[in-house]
Order: sequence, then structure tokens, then C-alpha cells
Amino acid sequence: MIQNKNIPAIVKEVSLTDIKSNIRHLTDYSTRFTFSDKAILAREWIYDQFSKLGYSDVTYQDFILCDSLQKNIVCTKQGKGESDKILILCAHYDSIVKSTVGWDWQTCPAPGANDNASGVAAMIETARILKNIDMNYTIRFIAFTGEEQNLWGSRAYADHALSNNMNIVLVINLDEIGYPDVKPEWKVIIGEDQGNQDPPGNTDTKKFVEVIKQAASAYTNLTIKLLDLWRSDHMPFNSAGFTAIGVCQAGKYPHTHEVTDTYDNIDIDYVVEVTRMTAATIIKVAGITQKKYDPV
Ligand SMILES: [Zn+2]
Repeated sequence: MIQNKNIPAIVKEVSLTDIKSNIRHLTDYSTRFTFSDKAILAREWIYDQFSKLGYSDVTYQDFILCDSLQKNIVCTKQGKGESDKILILCAHYDSIVKSTVGWDWQTCPAPGANDNASGVAAMIETARILKNIDMNYTIRFIAFTGEEQNLWGSRAYADHALSNNMNIVLVINLDEIGYPDVKPEWKVIIGEDQGNQDPPGNTDTKKFVEVIKQAASAYTNLTIKLLDLWRSDHMPFNSAGFTAIGVCQAGKYPHTHEVTDTYDNIDIDYVVEVTRMTAATIIKVAGITQKKYDPV
């Protein structure tokens, strides 16, 4: 794997302040429940963040879920070399809490700070630091909705990718990345298809897991812990035969799908580390084409 002497300086650009304010903003909607009016505001805000960073190719992917129009946000950073090859970085923006008697999804809070404002903030921050770096492959940043209802946003996109014969090299899905295990031995869980459900994809998975491992040890304080894929937005891609990897915190978060999944209960330093690992992996896989960023 090509090493690039610029990676430390690039990943250092990941800003704790930006990630903090993005998570705060997303949780300030109070809910991002898939069918809520607030989720519409959240998706418009995510769309605007990509536009404000200077990306011109930002679109919505529409799909219908239970008679309602839903939208994924898709931001494409066109590759400058092998641009037909696509690396996807994704995270779901919808949130949920376990419904109890009297729970009203339009008005009751489902802050989803960890699940999954953390992943969305890390994705936006990665898009920010890579904005002005020309890369070999095309990078596509996608914010999904309907994850909590059964992965509907990612299913819609994986179907679209399959029927359009997209050359997706790798999907990295961030879902709940804000709660570490005990310091200083921070770990991060990397999900790979260990069940040989798709053997050719599995071979590629091992190769990319190795890249993530190197990125984590060279540029962060994280070590990786491998698990089989769990139920999240990487699944529809894996089922469609694409190579998909999940990224998740190693700590056991006690507030998942609770009204207590708030900003104060997550660790932003840890989100920063996971974002750095993710960005370094993308650089290693997708490559940089600008002369000043030539590898060592
Ligand atoms: Zn989630």
C-alpha cells in the first residue's frame, strides 16, 4: 500500500470545534425521526453544509417510504484519475427513541447525538478536509434516512448503484462513533463480512481492513477490533455484492435509542480520532493526484 507523507498534516486538519458544532446543531433539532418535520430541516441543513464547503454536485435521492417522500443527501467529489471508481463514505441522519405509551414522533425528543449525529458530523468534516485535494477515485458522501425503520435509505441507494452498474470500490459506513472504551486503550470496531456471504467481496474486505488498521496505528490513538457486520447501512451494499465496512465505537453506550442520547454523553475527542482514521483510510485507498501531495 502506498504511503503518503502528507497524510499526517491532512488528518490534523480534522477540527474538534467543527465536529462539536455539527453534532450540537443536529441534536438541536430535538428529533430527526424519519417522518418528522424536523428531519426535513436536518436534511436541508446537511445539503447546505456540502454546498457551503464548495461542492457543486450535491443532490437528493428520493424514495417513498410508507407513502411519504424521503430523501438521502448525495455529495459527489469527482475523481481526477480513475474517476469511474467510487468510494462511498456514509452515515444515517435519522434518529429514533424506543417508543413508549404516549410517545409522539412529531413532538417527542429523539436527539440521536451518538446515533448518528456523530457519524454525520464525521462525514461532513471528512468532506471539508478533503475538499481541495484532487483524488484519483471519485468520493461520494451520502447521508441516509430511514435507517431506523429498516435501512430504507441505504437499500434505495444500493439498488440504484446495482442497477446502474456503479463501480463501487468500497463503502465505509459510520454509525455511532462517539463512545469509547476506557482510555488510554481506545479501540474502534470495524465490521467486515466474516460469514463468507460473498466470498469475492470478502477478499477485498480483508485488504481494506488492513488499510484501516495501518491508518489507525499510524495516525491515531486507536486500535481496531474486528467484528462481523451488524445491522446498519453497510448491509444493503454487502448484500448487493459491494465491499462494505462498518465503523462503530468500542464502548458499550447505555443511551442508544433513548432520550438521553445527548451531546453531553458522548466524547468528541474520540469522534475526532475516528474521523482521522476514516480520512486517512480514504486517502490511502482513493489516492491523491496532485503533484505536491506525491507519496514518499
Ligand atoms: Zn444508527
